[in-house]
Amino acid sequence: MTDAAIDIGAASRDLEGAPPVEILRWASRYIPRLAFATGFGAEGCVVIDLVAREKLPIDIFTLDTGVLFPETYELWHRLEARYGITIRGVVPDQTIEEQALAHGAKLWERDPDQCCALRKVLPLERQLAGFDGWITAIRRDQTPDRANAAIVERDRKFDLLKVNPLVAWTHDDVWGHLYAHDVPYNVLHERGYPSIGCQPCTSPVVPGENLRAGRWRGAGKTECGLHVVPGKERNA
Ligand code: SF4
Repeated sequence: MTDAAIDIGAASRDLEGAPPVEILRWASRYIPRLAFATGFGAEGCVVIDLVAREKLPIDIFTLDTGVLFPETYELWHRLEARYGITIRGVVPDQTIEEQALAHGAKLWERDPDQCCALRKVLPLERQLAGFDGWITAIRRDQTPDRANAAIVERDRKFDLLKVNPLVAWTHDDVWGHLYAHDVPYNVLHERGYPSIGCQPCTSPVVPGENLRAGRWRGAGKTECGLHVVPGKERNA
């Protein structure tokens, strides 16, 4: 439906420079079934704040891999309480124990791509099958692979529209919004973790390092695969 009804290139151009809340309003108006998948990063908290305060009809869920930080689970409940919303937890087919029996313990140490596929990408794929579009919280300046992200894109991986309301924002824009609106955020950000994923695959960074340097440190991996462009699987 959405491809036929929306000129993606024109929409992206028209929305360039628009505040994220306007992009979210546009998406809610023109894309019938919309989801926001959050990992509770600082950017995700901004989007949750905007969606909740605007009461936009966007289904919010998180991929609960079973190995998130306790601080992340705490933030999840804090956001629900603050905004009076439900953030659905989407779980993989296998628990951590079942995955260990099937693939060996600590799969993330031996094959993080397979672990991410089982615990994040496949569950997300199944969830998104019921939607026309999804919102992400990516920013262009986070990684080279995100540098060319448009505001509205056709997501070939999941076969739906993808809307990136924060692409033009900087790290400072995000934190300015969080402070200005007193938005709850992960306390780990104050302990050297600018980017937070699963506990086994996230380490703190030191001053001067890339803000995502603590993700899959030493594994040659920079993304979990959710924002992969087909044909660029290893780098995106
Ligand atoms: S981030 Fe690590 S633990 Fe989480 S799904 Fe990916 S490889 Fe597994």
